[in-house]
Amino acid sequence: MLDWNPLGFSSPRFHLAWRLALIFGGTALVGLVFGAKAALVVLSVSALIYASHMFFNTALLRAWLRAPDTHEIPDSLGIWSEIFSRLYRILRLNKQSATRIARELDRFQQAGAALPDGIALLNKAGEIEWCNPVTQAHFAIDLERDRGQPITYLVRQPDFAEHLNASNAEPLILHDWRGSGLTLSVQIVPYGDAQKLIVSRDITQIERADTVRRDFVANVSHELRTPLTVVSGFLETLEGMERSDSKMLGRSIQLMREQTARMQRLVEDLLTLSRLESGQALQEEHVDLPAIVRSLQREAEHMSKRQHRISARVDTPLWVRGSDTELHSALTNLVSNAVRYTPPEGEVRIAWEISDGEGVFSVEDSGPGIEAIHIPRLTERFYRVDKSRSREGGGTGLGLAIVKHVLQRHQARLDIQSEPGKGSRFAVHFPKQRLLAPPVPAHTRSMAPAAGS
Ligand code: ADP
Repeated sequence: MLDWNPLGFSSPRFHLAWRLALIFGGTALVGLVFGAKAALVVLSVSALIYASHMFFNTALLRAWLRAPDTHEIPDSLGIWSEIFSRLYRILRLNKQSATRIARELDRFQQAGAALPDGIALLNKAGEIEWCNPVTQAHFAIDLERDRGQPITYLVRQPDFAEHLNASNAEPLILHDWRGSGLTLSVQIVPYGDAQKLIVSRDITQIERADTVRRDFVANVSHELRTPLTVVSGFLETLEGMERSDSKMLGRSIQLMREQTARMQRLVEDLLTLSRLESGQALQEEHVDLPAIVRSLQREAEHMSKRQHRISARVDTPLWVRGSDTELHSALTNLVSNAVRYTPPEGEVRIAWEISDGEGVFSVEDSGPGIEAIHIPRLTERFYRVDKSRSREGGGTGLGLAIVKHVLQRHQARLDIQSEPGKGSRFAVHFPKQRLLAPPVPAHTRSMAPAAGS
C-alpha cells in the first residue's frame, strides 16, 4: 500500500513525499470520519510498519555488506529496491573493471614472459615483485617461493649489490656466472617511485663471437707480419748492397718471392673463407667425383715430386650434387695436407667408395699422425699442431676451416682418424641424398642401368 504510486514518478524524494502524504492524508481522513483516537491508532500503526520496513531492510543491507562478493544482492520494495539496485550496478561495474584490469595485467605478464631477456620488478626495498621465466633461469629464482625476497639475498654477488645501489646506466657484466660458463649482462633501470627494473641478457654467444673476431684479427696480423718483416728486411739489405753481388741479390729475390707467395695464399684463403661464410646460395651442379679423384692423384704426384707413393681407388661411379669449385678446393686441401705432412718415402692413398649408403671420399697417409686432443680443434681457423712445420710447408692454417665450411654447405661431415706415429685418415661422408648416378654416355643411353644401382 505504501508503494502504491498511481502517478508513476520515480524520484526517491517524490516516493518519500508521496508516502508521507498517504499516511497523513489517510490519518486525517480516519480522524474526520472516526474521531481523533482512531486517527492516532492509524498514525501509530503506520509509523510502526514504516519503521519495521526500514529496520528490516537495514538489516538486509548490513548482512549483504559483510560479504558482497559471495551473496546475492537483496531484493526489496520501494526506495530500498532502488538503493539495492544502484548498489548492484556499482558492484557490477567494479567487477567489470577488476576483470578488465586483471586481463590487462595477464597480457602484460604474458608479454613479459615471452621476452627473450630477463625482466624483474623490484619494489622500493629491493624486493622481487614479479619476474619473467628468463630471469628465473638466469638467477635460479622460483617466483612462487621468492616473491617478496630482497634480490640481493638471491643474487649473492658483491658487484651486483653495488651496481643495484648505484643504479648505474652501464650494464654489469657477470662472467662465467655461477660457474655455468654463461656471461650475463645486467642493467638496472630505475622507474616509478624508487622502484627498479632489472633487465638481464645472456651475452655468451656475443662474447664468444667477439673473442673469435679479436683472435682472428690478431692471427691475421701475426701471419702477415712475419713475411712482411722478411720482405722489408731484404729490401733494406738490397738498398745498401753493391750492385755486383748478384748471388746475394738472386737469393734475396727468391726469398721475397716465397714470402709474397705466402701472403698471397693467405689472402686467397681468407677470401675463400669469407665467401663461404657470406651465406651465398650453393651452386648445385653434377660433380664428377671419380674424375676429381683422378685429377687429385695427378696434383698430389706433382706436389710430391716423386717423393711419396701415391695411389687412388675409385670403387663407385656415383657423382655428387654440389659445387664443383668448392668440392675441388676442399678435397685438394685434404690431399695437399697429406702430401705436405708425410715425410719422403711415405704413402698417400686416395679413395672414393660407398659405405653404409654414404659416399666416402678419403685420404690416408703414413705421416706423423695427430694426438687425439688436437683432433676436435683442427678445423678452427689458424689452429695448427706444429706451427713451424705448417709454415715451412707453406700452410696458411685455414685449409681445414675451408673444408669444414664447404662440407657444411653440402650436408657432408669430416671424420678424422689419426694416431701419432701411425698416420692419419681424413674422410668426407656425403649423405645419400647428395649422391647421383653418373650421366649415361649418349651412345649407350638405350641400355643404361637404373640410377643409383
Ligand atoms: P695448414 O695450412 O697449417 O696445413 P690446415 O687447416 O690445413 O692448416 O690444417 C690444420 C693443422 O692440422 C695443420 O697445421 C696440421 O698440424 C694438422 N694436419 C692437417 N692435416 C694433417 C695430416 N695429414 N697429417 C698430420 N697433421 C695434419
